Amino acid sequence: MSRYVIIGNGTASVGAIEGIRSVDKTGSITVISEEDRPAYCRPLISYYLEGKTKLENIGMRGADYYSDSAAELLCGRKAVGIDADRRTVALDDGEVLPYDRLCVCTGSSPFVPPFEGLGTVEKQFTFMTLDSALGIEKSIDAASRVLIVGAGLIGLKCAEGLTGRVASVTVCDLADRVLSSILDADCAALMQRHLEEHGMEFLLGDSAVRFDGNTAYMRSGRTVGFDVLILAVGVRANTSLISGIGGEVNRGIVVDERMATSVDGIFAAGDCAEGFDASSGGKRVLAILPNAYMQGHAAGVNMAGGSEVFDKGIPMNSIGFFGLHAMSAGVYEGEMYEERTDTSIKRLFTKDGLLKGFILIGRSERAGIYTSMIREKIPLSSVDFELLKRSATTAAFPPESRRKMFGGAV
Ligand SMILES: Cc1cc2nc3c(=O)[nH]c(=O)nc-3n(C[C@H](O)[C@H](O)[C@H](O)COP(=O)(O)OP(=O)(O)OC[C@H]3O[C@@H](n4cnc5c(N)ncnc54)[C@H](O)[C@@H]3O)c2cc1C
Repeated sequence: MSRYVIIGNGTASVGAIEGIRSVDKTGSITVISEEDRPAYCRPLISYYLEGKTKLENIGMRGADYYSDSAAELLCGRKAVGIDADRRTVALDDGEVLPYDRLCVCTGSSPFVPPFEGLGTVEKQFTFMTLDSALGIEKSIDAASRVLIVGAGLIGLKCAEGLTGRVASVTVCDLADRVLSSILDADCAALMQRHLEEHGMEFLLGDSAVRFDGNTAYMRSGRTVGFDVLILAVGVRANTSLISGIGGEVNRGIVVDERMATSVDGIFAAGDCAEGFDASSGGKRVLAILPNAYMQGHAAGVNMAGGSEVFDKGIPMNSIGFFGLHAMSAGVYEGEMYEERTDTSIKRLFTKDGLLKGFILIGRSERAGIYTSMIREKIPLSSVDFELLKRSATTAAFPPESRRKMFGGAV
């Protein structure tokens, strides 16, 4: 009977459990979870803050999931080392677990720059875990002034969760626009205006450099008073367990298309892994929920002796703030087709006869069609691209491609 060990208990881990069980119904599965709770849907922590969902609804699977999957969950335990020769994992309490196949699903951790005076700030948080959301909730009241450092997805999601619950939410970022790694300047400006209309304040092209108690000293020379500080500057993949044993690590743990690392018997998946990016042809950390699940599933199948390749990952985002939805995927290179109104923007990027990327804000079309074209590298010459530009419709595809891409239903 095979012994499978999974380090980490997020979306990638759930994918790995389900991948293993799709092939091997009897091997033992042990999941090591630093967080002291079953897997939950991380993006929902801001919805919890906002009061849009309850704690009992944010679990990724039902209450009996681990017993139904015959997986043992070790909660509140941390893996501190791997011995790849002996095939064992050491835990922080001294226990040593043997494995035949191991999957590292350790996600990422918030990066906190060494700001001068940060230690003088009494109420400071990052925003990656349910525990951080619960801590923030305890620290705020209706009079709180919240300063968020970082106008990326995590900072803005936290800001959305808090707006309306506190007196003010100010977001600062050294970048000159919001969501700078996802949106280009025009699209970011549209989103920023929408966020401001809902009460957020922004200090862009400026950021805190020093703190003294409840005062932030900004690069521009201005000062900002606050009661609660949220640091959402960026994240770093948790790779040290693999780099510690000499495995190949770049920005993430380098994996092949089967999600195998460079160390025999060890796989990796999710935000900690650097896998194949179908839109650029290179390797990249693709830190989004669907990729974490699909990578985990492929890892699990391969760990159990099956065969699954994950080579269709692309950078993509689907996010909404106060009802304004933004979707983006791929790279923004090549020729641009654009449609825009006061409240919406659509941009399609084409190069070398392929759709390379898109941004849609405030639009309701079926972006999945564009995403499939990027993933599957569908030549523009094989579709009615003039029709597709105006509307994401399957009618633009010849019947054979329609069947291949979307199944028999369309
Ligand atoms: C606020 C927020 C909003 C987001 N919104 C979206 C969104 O709208 N759409 C989207 O696609 N993605 C979103 N994401 C990103 C998404 O949540 C991640 O891509 C996804 O959770 C990655 O899953 P994972 O399993 O790789 O890692 P994680 O979910 O981070 O799980 C990793 C787990 O491993 C544990 N761990 C780490 N090291 C060890 C160790 N040594 N021993 C034991 N356990 C360990 C960690 O404690 C953690 O519980 C959001 C993230 C955040 C924080």
